[in-house]
Amino acid sequence: MSADEKALRPKFWETVPMAEMTTPEWEALCDGCGKCCMLKMENEDPPHEIAYTNIACRLFDEETCRCSSYAMRSVLVPTCIQLTPESIVGAREWMPKTCAYRLLADGEKLPGWHPLVTGDRNSVHSSGNSMRNATVPEYEVGEEDWYDYVIEEGH
Ligand code: SF4
Ligand code: SF4
Repeated sequence: MSADEKALRPKFWETVPMAEMTTPEWEALCDGCGKCCMLKMENEDPPHEIAYTNIACRLFDEETCRCSSYAMRSVLVPTCIQLTPESIVGAREWMPKTCAYRLLADGEKLPGWHPLVTGDRNSVHSSGNSMRNATVPEYEVGEEDWYDYVIEEGH
């Protein structure tokens, strides 16, 4: 167990409001699914539904299912959404339905496969809830073909 993990309060995700979480707790909320790193499209017509593709951002590492340049992401990819307790309110629609930040912002519980619930960082992958080995890189797909890669719609 890392020093950061030891600093987490027991079941903080059920007891501590998002705005009062420590930085390690806030970061630990991320299940590592990688879904938010997929390219998304917003329908121009109301109700402006958002479609998720399995086309990965150019910084996404498919094996680790993580950003390959997390510290520099806002510089390298200006459209990357930086989640904070404040920004999740406006950004929730852009997050996948299983995203832990979106679920807590909506007053819902973490799913049973979330690493915080299972105590196993791998459970997001073994339960089939991550994008590990399920993506195509953005440089391989032209924008006109994005609709062929839609995997989730209707946020
Ligand atoms: S969708 Fe949410 S839980 Fe999944 S990787 Fe992105 S921020 Fe983390
Ligand atoms: S810059 Fe990194 S964190 Fe942001 S979408 Fe791309 S891979 Fe994900």
